[in-house]
Amino acid sequence: MSQRTKIKALLQSQQTEIDVTVKGWVRAFRSNRFIALNDGSTNNNIQVVVDFENTDPALLKRITVGAALSVQGKLIASLGKGQTVEVVATDIEILGDSDPEKYPIQPKKHSLEFLRENAHLRFRTSTFSAIFRVRNSLAFAVHQFFQERGFVYLHTPIITASDAEGAGETFHVTNFDLDNIPKTDTGEIDFKQDFFGRAANLTVSGQLEGELGAMALSDIYTFGPTFRAENSNTTRHLAEFWMIEPEVAFNDIVDNMDLAEDMLKYVIKYTLDKNADDIEFLTQRLEEEEKTKPQNERSEMTLLEKLQFCLNNDFERLTYTEAIQILRDSTPNKKKKFQYPVEGWGTDLQSEHERYLVEKHFKKPVILTDYPKEIKSFYMRQNDDGKTVAAMDILFPGIGEIVGGSQREERLDKLEQRMDEIGIPKDELWWYLDTRRFGTCPHAGFGLGFERLVLFVTGMGNIRDVIPFPRFPKNAEF
Ligand code: ATP
Ligand code: MN
Repeated sequence: MSQRTKIKALLQSQQTEIDVTVKGWVRAFRSNRFIALNDGSTNNNIQVVVDFENTDPALLKRITVGAALSVQGKLIASLGKGQTVEVVATDIEILGDSDPEKYPIQPKKHSLEFLRENAHLRFRTSTFSAIFRVRNSLAFAVHQFFQERGFVYLHTPIITASDAEGAGETFHVTNFDLDNIPKTDTGEIDFKQDFFGRAANLTVSGQLEGELGAMALSDIYTFGPTFRAENSNTTRHLAEFWMIEPEVAFNDIVDNMDLAEDMLKYVIKYTLDKNADDIEFLTQRLEEEEKTKPQNERSEMTLLEKLQFCLNNDFERLTYTEAIQILRDSTPNKKKKFQYPVEGWGTDLQSEHERYLVEKHFKKPVILTDYPKEIKSFYMRQNDDGKTVAAMDILFPGIGEIVGGSQREERLDKLEQRMDEIGIPKDELWWYLDTRRFGTCPHAGFGLGFERLVLFVTGMGNIRDVIPFPRFPKNAEF
């Protein structure tokens, strides 16, 4: 393999008049002389100058948008505007041709929908390469945040046998011959004959297993794929998404909120520093997009300002009960502007209600706590009022819910009583209940939807654009 310098490094080079090898894909070729070459290390292209009078015309013809090139030449201070350095080519090798008649990605603006259908090539656009570099930094920062604090990265299973959370909406995992599924005498599917000897599914959350780890390692986190077969064709739901789930022994709900807020700020700060160019590019992209919207729908802050604002302000913390009161008294509710009117205490908030609180009322991220127990999971710790649980949801501007978490019910009797009330089979969860039988202790954790975080940081509008290959109803291409 020959030496190659990444374009990002070349563009920052203090030295000029040096021989370099650069490889990448052609973004544009103009005047038979100037190649804009990109290798994904940065959104900026390096300009390669071709001595076209002394270059074989057959070779020149093959320098087309999308072609892969290896270029040897001299790095010099640029004579032209728009770049400080450029490469004067002495040798150009075409590694891979790209037929300009057929290559879908042209140097012009493509719609996000078009690029979704060409997700195998969309990495080659400025927008998507920026998004996936930002995604990479966020993922790295998540690990760094937890590792600095002594958390253990725990790999919880992707195949599980319990749909214990009662979330439903799981994907089945089976190796039955689908044309010939074994049945019992009473006509039910005989899972005893299936691979695992029981019904199995893809995980909807690693939390329950994460709790087992926390009951010995104290501080753990998971970061892995999660699957939900919910048929929600929204801009915020995927069938396959990544979730980060810390679980901490001895933490209460306030510690839990602090941890989530610290973590969100840490990873956003890290990415702002590390990917300043990309964030600037995405800020401009969003500004362009906003211009196409009516004035009253445009956001007051740019992407960069939104991110900085999020870092510089405490998240607003209030209870569900207080939120309901604010929503009831709100102008859109009184003027019947909400699609779903704010129902009485006890009902779940609609995403338009969440967004009103965050975007209009508080104008900053909000942490809602102490939800009615009826609308939350069985494992959340029951408050003394008998009506609410120690839940916490973090709501973000433009996104709605980004984090869902709680202090967990560590008291065996209370937990069992709640499971009985809502009909969760205790025998199936014997292993979960064991942690309450042997050395139980207060503990808390949360789930952060990674793509929702990437949505926020990139300012994109559709979750399908922040995961390389989105899975959603009726789509599993690539
Ligand atoms: P929502 O009400 O938005 O559907 P949820 O209450 O079902 O979310 P949780 O079960 O609390 O979500 O999951 C924890 C986090 O995972 C959520 O806060 C969200 O960030 C993320 N998340 C949940 N479902 C999806 C999905 N289908 N696609 C992408 N992210 C998701
Ligand atoms: Mn939730």
